[in-house]
Amino acid sequence: MTKNYYQTLGVDKKASKDDIKKAFRRLAQKYHPDKSGGDENKFKEINEAYQILSDEHRRKEYDTYGQTFSQGGPSGGSAQGGPFAGFDFTDFAGNGMGFEAGDLGDIFAEFFGGGRTQQQSRGRDISIDIEVSFADSIFGTTRNVLITKVSHCTTCKGSGAKVGSATKKCASCGGKGRLRQTRRSILGNITSETVCDKCFGAGEVPEENCTTCGGAGVSRRAEEVSVAIPSGIQQGEMIRLSGMGEAVPHGRAGDLYVKLHVEAHKTFRRAGLNLNMDLEVKLTDALTGSTYSVQTLDGDLKVKVPEGVTPGEILRVKGYGVPSHGGNRGDLMIKVVVKMPSKLSKKAHALVEELRAEGL
Ligand SMILES: [Zn+2]
Ligand SMILES: [Zn+2]
Repeated sequence: MTKNYYQTLGVDKKASKDDIKKAFRRLAQKYHPDKSGGDENKFKEINEAYQILSDEHRRKEYDTYGQTFSQGGPSGGSAQGGPFAGFDFTDFAGNGMGFEAGDLGDIFAEFFGGGRTQQQSRGRDISIDIEVSFADSIFGTTRNVLITKVSHCTTCKGSGAKVGSATKKCASCGGKGRLRQTRRSILGNITSETVCDKCFGAGEVPEENCTTCGGAGVSRRAEEVSVAIPSGIQQGEMIRLSGMGEAVPHGRAGDLYVKLHVEAHKTFRRAGLNLNMDLEVKLTDALTGSTYSVQTLDGDLKVKVPEGVTPGEILRVKGYGVPSHGGNRGDLMIKVVVKMPSKLSKKAHALVEELRAEGL
């Protein structure tokens, strides 16, 4: 089902960042498609494994959930079409995409003698865990959590400009918004084009920077995030809050993933939309019938135990279960557990003998 990235790189689960990097470099050089004996598919696999395991955040996600939710920017793994997306081996000149950020660039740096990075256009995803009470998992709730992350500057709304500032032509790219670079290599001239890191592609920059963020448009701070937890959620379910992950300057913010953990309840167990519970009933009450007060998630409820109830019998209370998305609710299923006296007094013994005489 899931890929074993550790196996792909031939490292231990506890391998250090350094070990992982070394393993990647060794394998990437061995399987590089340009080399004799190279293997493009193998190279892609190695690269994908490295993209995950070299990133602390994504590695943790992978270790925890067996998959990752983060995309590490434009070069983020196979979801964007593999490590070769945007890179043409046969036509280096003017393909408009150039090299991408990250470790693929790193590998080429080794081959071509020099690497470069490109501005990431999407922020990192963040994942957090929230523990909710059993009752909250049934009825839903809202949680405010404090997350320290890179967020858009509230003063300039992410623009990086001082409010009301005029703009001027970007000196770095001459107003084009992109930077071209040509370098010689063993495979000929390579021309790469990147988004200008001064104006982020806009071609112009503000005359005056925002004083709060110094022009970055983002800042790292603790931010309160309100998480709406819907009714009927189950242990391990994940909620995705789009755009609530980390922000990047002049780019799209990542997503926030919330993994929910539901506390076990001392009385209730969930079975689909129904709630199961045991009710301990005295022997005499089981024989003659009685009314019991049951603490449900909706408050106290009088439950009639019928005369002669069978141990293990289920008493069904309609509508006291889990709310469905269709607006109905499941039922509360009360299992009768008859408590047998462990020891009878002399008097009780005599009374039971009388019952025996009755033929019971
Ligand atoms: Zn520029
Ligand atoms: Zn600002």
